[in-house]
Amino acid sequence: MTKTFLEKLIEKAKLKLLILRLQLRVIFLRQKLTIPNLPEPKIVVVHHGGGNWGFNKINKSHRFKWGFKSSLGYYIGYHKFIEFTGKLYIARRDNEEGAHCVDPANPGYWNKNSVGLGVQGNTDLQNSPEWLLITLKSELDSYVARGFEIKYHGQIVPTTCPGRYLKEWLKDNRYI
Ligand SMILES: [Zn+2]
Repeated sequence: MTKTFLEKLIEKAKLKLLILRLQLRVIFLRQKLTIPNLPEPKIVVVHHGGGNWGFNKINKSHRFKWGFKSSLGYYIGYHKFIEFTGKLYIARRDNEEGAHCVDPANPGYWNKNSVGLGVQGNTDLQNSPEWLLITLKSELDSYVARGFEIKYHGQIVPTTCPGRYLKEWLKDNRYI
């Protein structure tokens, strides 16, 4: 039986609709929007970026890597990020899930129960600029005043993060 022109047209339209639905599903899967509904955390975990990438570059990279969008519209895994200039970015609210610290012995725990604070640069190779440290200090002081405990990535899992210079700075300033 030969198909009428109308039947062919309907088939074509159905196929197009199916493709559209699949595309929409991919978009929604990529936008695993997080909801700020976790209990207020009491720990800050400090990181260094490990390279010279600024906020926008890391955000873009994490967008394609995970597509884990925050309620503020960013994809970067840290809650907060400070650039060399001292500029502070708030990417996630403190009480929403991050993607900054994975402990295989305790899956999901740190991303749900701590604030990930990252700084630009590789602090294994160099000290952070003074502008960055001024912002970092004011952030950490504010968290300490609210009863938060300050930790760094390497205290939780074996990693050199956040680099020896920043670790020294954290010790010198009595955060750890
Ligand atoms: Zn780290």
